[in-house]
Amino acid sequence: MGSISASVPLPPLEMFFFPFVGGGHQIPMVDIARVFAAHGVSSTILAAPSAVPAFQKSIAGDQRSGRLIRVYTLQLPENAPSPDADMSAAPFTDTSALQEPLRELLLERKPHCIVVDMFHRWSGEVIDATGVPRVVFSGNACFARSAQEMMRIHNPHEGLSSEFEPFVIPRLPDKIVMTRSQLPHFHKSPPAGGNQPPGGRLWGPDKNLFGVVVNSFYDLEPKYVDFFRNELGHRAWVVGPVSLCNQDVKDKAVRGKDSSIDEETCLKWLNSKEPDSVLYVSFGSLARLAPIQLLELAHGLEASGQNFIWVVGKISDSDGNGEKSEDGSWLPDGFEERMRESERGLIIRGWAPQLLILEHPSVGGFMTHCGWNSTLEGVSSGVPMITYPISAEQFFNEKLITDVLGIGVKSGSIEWSKWDTELREPVRREKVEAAVRALMASSAEAAEMRRRANELGKKARSAVEKGGSSYADVEALIDELRRCKRN
Ligand code: UDP
Repeated sequence: MGSISASVPLPPLEMFFFPFVGGGHQIPMVDIARVFAAHGVSSTILAAPSAVPAFQKSIAGDQRSGRLIRVYTLQLPENAPSPDADMSAAPFTDTSALQEPLRELLLERKPHCIVVDMFHRWSGEVIDATGVPRVVFSGNACFARSAQEMMRIHNPHEGLSSEFEPFVIPRLPDKIVMTRSQLPHFHKSPPAGGNQPPGGRLWGPDKNLFGVVVNSFYDLEPKYVDFFRNELGHRAWVVGPVSLCNQDVKDKAVRGKDSSIDEETCLKWLNSKEPDSVLYVSFGSLARLAPIQLLELAHGLEASGQNFIWVVGKISDSDGNGEKSEDGSWLPDGFEERMRESERGLIIRGWAPQLLILEHPSVGGFMTHCGWNSTLEGVSSGVPMITYPISAEQFFNEKLITDVLGIGVKSGSIEWSKWDTELREPVRREKVEAAVRALMASSAEAAEMRRRANELGKKARSAVEKGGSSYADVEALIDELRRCKRN
């Protein structure tokens, strides 16, 4: 009997994926949907009308190769404005106009599960009322989630004499030292009536939650994956780095948005450089740096004498409101010409093909704002990093990179600010230069950092291959969902 039932192929499991807006949320969720499709799941990405074209491009290759993956457009109620689904959309964008179309779709299709970004704060009750198992995606590492949870419970930052007095985060497996200046505003002044960071129910008691999908891999943060599961009690499937599902050049070039530079120009420039000689500088999809900060960066990069690719995204107005022109008037005199003529620096205005760049053998370092996706993409590419955190949970990620993993040097950014306001104290050019020299040098310390980063890059790749921990966690979630449906 066993052999007969074993030979009957099971119909594919049906999973829905509901990304939030903004690059740091949409990009990994699309990759997660692709990873599950590669494991034989029928994956449907739910999108507001404005997000559909970008998603469609990202999955076109998978569809051509016969994988079961598609985008479903959630039709908005008449006259409801479509939420801004641009890659630079704000983290507090209201997506609740999608509530009713989501509810109707779930009742009609009854998928085996929906993976939903925790920033759709309204979604828990809507989904639970339909009976569809709800898995949450937070976009953070287990390290950052665990640290933030310990902050929330123990409040070690209260009663300190200054913003810069160090304190240790209680109960974590390593001694993690922070200052109040590095904490997100929602830790310092939690909303009235509840001691809850954004994300709502995921981090409070939530008996209906099926579990959590994490974009990380076990060998990167084993003590924190265990802590997250065993001490914090989350059922977590750790399935990353999901960016590794982008294997060909085209996939990497259309990830998120079309790049502002064509891939040939970019690769030609990189091919002309020695291995490990280029520093890649990027601050993600959201952060708006102020002109003074960019000026200091430009001076620091030039003084370091290092080759670099610098992605200049949105620029904030000096008073922190609105955006400034991107014409380059904030750069030192003649900077762009000097960089172009010497072929030392490539400036990309807008969107860069980040994976393509990071994985190129000429790239030997990454100056990053420590967004979790960028961090993990740096790790997967085996490059050491210069940490330049700005906002969100980026200061926690900095601790993981530098103090726990020993694969990065700090730039000296020490004050948290909102993603759209000016940095409080810009990192001065001398510090930028010193950090670049420390990372890209041929010293024993730099070589050791590079060796560790390379080692982790190999482990990242093994994790997503057959026999690896992330591969196994994807299969484990699929199995659980099948069992749950049968029961
Ligand atoms: N990204 C990119 N090109 C850019 C800027 C960002 O491909 O020019 C991608 C990057 O690879 C990452 C995501 O956008 O996958 C940014 O996410 P992250 O968590 O690093 O930062 P956030 O944008 O959320 O601050």
